[in-house]
Amino acid sequence: MLSYRHAFHAGNHADMLKHLTLWLVLNYFNRKDKPYCYIDTHSGAGLYDLGSAEAQKIGEYRHGIARLQAEENLPEPLNSFIGRLKNILPQPNLYCGSPWLAQAETRSIDKLRLFELHPADFQFLENNMREAKLNRRGIIKQEDGYHGLISLLPPPCRRAVVLIDPPYEEKQDYERVVKMLKEAQKRFEQGCYLVWYPCLSREESSKLPEQLRKLSPDNYLNAELHVHAPRADGFGMHGSGMFVINPPYILAEQLATALPALVSSLAQDNGARFSLLHRIK
Ligand code: SAM
Repeated sequence: MLSYRHAFHAGNHADMLKHLTLWLVLNYFNRKDKPYCYIDTHSGAGLYDLGSAEAQKIGEYRHGIARLQAEENLPEPLNSFIGRLKNILPQPNLYCGSPWLAQAETRSIDKLRLFELHPADFQFLENNMREAKLNRRGIIKQEDGYHGLISLLPPPCRRAVVLIDPPYEEKQDYERVVKMLKEAQKRFEQGCYLVWYPCLSREESSKLPEQLRKLSPDNYLNAELHVHAPRADGFGMHGSGMFVINPPYILAEQLATALPALVSSLAQDNGARFSLLHRIK
């Protein structure tokens, strides 16, 4: 089943937490001259028009990127992230997906490996990434990202940032993420793996962080941003989380200053909050 389309959600609060974390990790990886590989198992379309019928339908970006852009006193590193988005977007009405952000932040020596299964979004991704002129450093495949990731490990350059961002429309996505990560760790233990997940009033969603922690109990970071209290009827996504295996040592400090500002800017009711757990070797 491939019914999820990120165009309806681009630029929402979940993208803010996910893309900020990804941006911080890529910038940390850029500190060393050695090349690395960026692998995106669930890429989406790469770039999104916030004026499109899809983005306008629910207007989630109005409670995400639009609120942050309207803020005048964001703390660092959130302020630099929002400023950087302005510079890397080809037009002001666009918002980036993870592949576009990654192509902008990686260097000519780094590689990008992008997977997207949906035929229409794959086509958009190919077209959008053509503008980025990746040439030989980028490979885009219309393949299952879970298998695609395993086939690439270990990467020849022995440094990798992996974003795992499934739609979780099917219950199996939760199990598949854990299973794939176990296999990935066997092949390449030192990889930096970033997993996005939704915070829902459902068992499979609330149990995922604990299952991920068991995979890397001594070296992880887990940040959650809740924008409202869980609904009484149990429906809807009240927030989202990022789980990072082998996080950069400075990530916890960076998110500790960004998360309170994200809560105060993106709160939809007084149930908004954040959590930040980490154990870093
Ligand atoms: N990572 C993107 C970003 O931050 O801009 C958003 C990705 S969106 C949440 C999830 C995407 O995964 C959708 O475009 C969907 O079509 C795609 N997808 C679903 N199952 C997949 C699979 N098994 N392999 C690769 N892509 C898949």
